[in-house]
Amino acid sequence: MGFPSCADRTPQAEACATRTIPNHANTLEIIHTIEWMKLATRQAKAEGRCAGFVPTMGALHDGHMALVRAALSECRPVIASIFVNPTQFGPSEDFQKYPRAFEADCKKLADAGVDYLFAPEPAEIYPPGFRTWVNVEGLSERLEGRARPGHFRGVTTVVLKLLEIVQPQKAFFGRKDAQQARIIRQMARDLHLDSEIVVCPIVREADGLAMSSRNTYLNPQERRAATILFRALDAARASIASGERDALRLMAAMREMLRTEKLAEPDYVELVDADTLEQVTRLRGDCLALLAVRIGAVRLIDNLLIEEQPDEKFLATL
Ligand code: AMP
Repeated sequence: MGFPSCADRTPQAEACATRTIPNHANTLEIIHTIEWMKLATRQAKAEGRCAGFVPTMGALHDGHMALVRAALSECRPVIASIFVNPTQFGPSEDFQKYPRAFEADCKKLADAGVDYLFAPEPAEIYPPGFRTWVNVEGLSERLEGRARPGHFRGVTTVVLKLLEIVQPQKAFFGRKDAQQARIIRQMARDLHLDSEIVVCPIVREADGLAMSSRNTYLNPQERRAATILFRALDAARASIASGERDALRLMAAMREMLRTEKLAEPDYVELVDADTLEQVTRLRGDCLALLAVRIGAVRLIDNLLIEEQPDEKFLATL
């Protein structure tokens, strides 16, 4: 038995969905309402299928598509969402001008073989009278949360809503947003969610810059300068490979490196425990080196995962 299609719909349901984009092997069905999205995935669940979910804010690049490919390798149906979530943007942030490329995104998802695209309007997700928020205390106030108050409350609230609507067996997130992934894992554990949270590697441009929808804001000079985040983290990686274990020295060296790029204005440079996100003075267990740097008006983040190996060596992964 297949997934619900236009042909299976009642006239009411028909009015909820807009259109489908066929490709050679598959049809991407674009869904705008919670009601129809629930119907489609509840059917997959009842049939015992392993539904995979990739939530995004659109303007899709290969970092997003790597999550889609990971989902397609383990799950069917695969559902992607595009929702530029207003509640995770601060009042002076780029919600209005956040890059939007809906038609191109639909084509990429259809070509990749995604089954459903959930693309609700803000009023569908936040109807008048909306009052309930989810906040993961202790992890949400640090780092990105300190620089962007309320950001993670917006993220966790929308991710919980999306997981509740889609009810996937597995949901795929990128380590590009390492703090976000850590917070979502905590939320899933604390709220006994059924979805497994899968965290995928960072996808980078050929020169090391982590792919991001916001990279499109960079002018050519800023684009060149933006590789400083990768270069600082890569220097830390090399230093760890040569035996450096002092986190304070590693942080100082990364700050020093960032100072060599005149367009770069660091927001934070921290080496933290990967579980608590608290700063460490020496490498121990799994850690993250996290950077947030302004290049002109564009704020970029990147990180290095540092994992302790059984032989007390550390493996650092960009
Ligand atoms: P966004 O559209 O920026 O909200 O990102 C949607 C998902 O894609 C999040 O789980 C991000 O962590 C992930 N993502 C964004 N950029 C990358 C990247 N360069 N590599 C891997 N995952 C990414």
